[in-house]
Amino acid sequence: MEKFTLGVIGAGTMGNGIAQLGAQKGMKVILWDMNEELVSKGFDRISATLSKLVKREKITDAQKEEMLSNIKTTSKLEDLQNVSVVIEAIVENLEVKQDVFRQLDNILAPEAIIATNTSSLSITSIAEATGRQERVAGMHFFNPAPVMKLVEVVRGYKTSDETVSTLMDLAKQMGKEAIEVKKDTPGFIVNRVMLPQFIEAIRLVEEGVASPEDVDKAVKLGLNYPMGPFELQDFAGVDIGLHVMEYFHDEYKSERYAPPMALKRLIRAGRLGRKTGAGWYDYE
Ligand code: NAD
Repeated sequence: MEKFTLGVIGAGTMGNGIAQLGAQKGMKVILWDMNEELVSKGFDRISATLSKLVKREKITDAQKEEMLSNIKTTSKLEDLQNVSVVIEAIVENLEVKQDVFRQLDNILAPEAIIATNTSSLSITSIAEATGRQERVAGMHFFNPAPVMKLVEVVRGYKTSDETVSTLMDLAKQMGKEAIEVKKDTPGFIVNRVMLPQFIEAIRLVEEGVASPEDVDKAVKLGLNYPMGPFELQDFAGVDIGLHVMEYFHDEYKSERYAPPMALKRLIRAGRLGRKTGAGWYDYE
């Protein structure tokens, strides 16, 4: 029987993780990025990650080689023409995603499914670029994709039940727990729950109620979360948090999601989190 082939669009952080995961689970994967340099850089990163697993004796050298042999890289979208499911993980920009979806719609077989890993954009708006809106959905992985257990499968306005069930099955084959998000909504479930917590945590600090350290400690010990809201913002990028708040604020037109001033101040000072060596905390 022919093996399932998965297309992955974008060889950045998330695309690499998703491609690696597919390859680890024995799927044939075609990984695309804009040019050969980007896509081979992505492949090298996957290889380096698998080497670490070999070192830690999680997989053997032979298994690593087999996993890598499951991945084919390309910078030509046409090479994805026989793929039955594509997962897109390129920049978080609606026009750019729509442009790629439009091209994929012309290249793929009519029955193929195109999923997007977007964290915040409307699935319906992305799907509108195609003539197959019932076969477009969100498939939201978390970072790092090979490790994090959850996948949110998100319906656009016209996504069919069949598409949802194929993607739920795919997530399962990838060793994930999938949940269905029944309506296209800002932040889906996880970010919708998490964002108000970030905002409340920042407001507590702004009001002088507690320090970031104590808020983090309270949340970790009182709610049994592995990371506090300030640690998590620094880990994910403080600027990403602001970007998502601004998006929610704009969509809901509600002060509930107004980005706190302390957050803007931090970003203007170039403190974007771990990636810049400082955010709510100092790392250097
Ligand atoms: P990244 O910056 O690591 O990778 C983005 C990729 O997009 C790169 O491979 C880049 O070459 C490609 N790209 C850039 N401009 C392009 C263009 N004009 N046309 C085609 N490709 C282009 O980003 P990432 O963190 O992997 O995020 C990718 C997607 O996954 C985004 O939609 C993001 O919201 C979502 N996401 C990210 C995370 C996360 O924690 N990083 C988690 C869940 C979902």
